[in-house]
Amino acid sequence: MNIETKRDVLEILNMPETDFARDVLPKAQRAREAQFGNRIFLSGMIGYTNVCKNQCLYCGMRAGNSDLKRFRVAPEDVIALGRNAAEHGYKRIFLIAGEDPKYGFDGLVRIVKSLKDAGMFVSLACGEFDRAQYAELKAAGADEYVLKFEMSNPESFNRMNPSTTFTRRMEAIETIRGLGLALASGNIIDWPGQTADELADDILLMKRLGISWAPVIPFLPAMNTPLFETHHRGSLEKLYKEIAILRLMLPAIRITAQQPGADLRKGLSDPEANDSAIRAGANLLFYDLLPDPLAADFRVIDERHITGPQHAKVLSETYGYVIDTDA
Ligand code: SF4
Repeated sequence: MNIETKRDVLEILNMPETDFARDVLPKAQRAREAQFGNRIFLSGMIGYTNVCKNQCLYCGMRAGNSDLKRFRVAPEDVIALGRNAAEHGYKRIFLIAGEDPKYGFDGLVRIVKSLKDAGMFVSLACGEFDRAQYAELKAAGADEYVLKFEMSNPESFNRMNPSTTFTRRMEAIETIRGLGLALASGNIIDWPGQTADELADDILLMKRLGISWAPVIPFLPAMNTPLFETHHRGSLEKLYKEIAILRLMLPAIRITAQQPGADLRKGLSDPEANDSAIRAGANLLFYDLLPDPLAADFRVIDERHITGPQHAKVLSETYGYVIDTDA
């Protein structure tokens, strides 16, 4: 199935759900299997600080959320957690953080160097830095940098992410690409007021950027944020449509399979919900290396519940997926 143009993307986004399930989903599933067989990738993740100076209107870690208990994990402890995962055969690590001005950049560089030395594929999502800093992270051994554009509509981006600008975000994304780091980027699906046209633009922007991984998720406004009371969660139908389009358009990329289902209380580790995302073409799961009390406070969204590798084991035993801990 060839998906090239905005018209092709819109045709799928606008089709009835039953037609999508009959005509598109099976093709996306076959595309994933043709590329990866029955393998689903499992990456360790460490949210090493939940302090953030920014005020994104939907995020539970925004600076204005005074109800959240904040923490920082010292570089030596991050290194110990990551190296322990490497010793147990996990080759991919995802280091994620709020934009925390007081978490020393030197400490982050030390973490990257050490985990690279341990043989890991190091993926980072630590926000906007300047060119020299991204270059230093690459020199230290970073393989991939995750910087989401969130929404390709500049006005909406500027409204929902008031601590930065769309122009600055895209400049940072281009800097990352220019330095030769793999770029992971993507959007929030079905944010308030998003049109099918805008969603199609988001998907096509991912293609234009040549992403390695699509860290996409539906809109899930967190408690104690300006959008919590007034806006509902994003649609699962749109989530599966976007995943399927991405798989068919960019067959070799990683796409986040750790997705919510209908019952948000089950968090992102609901096997049924993850299986639905995998059936649409997704292929990347996570397990949290942080101790549980800290993991619970890494609260970009409510009810995140990313559990240990036993979650992937359930998916493997129930649905027959082969869990791959390689990079
Ligand atoms: S989305 Fe990221 S940058 Fe924005 S407030 Fe949350 S942690 Fe900070």
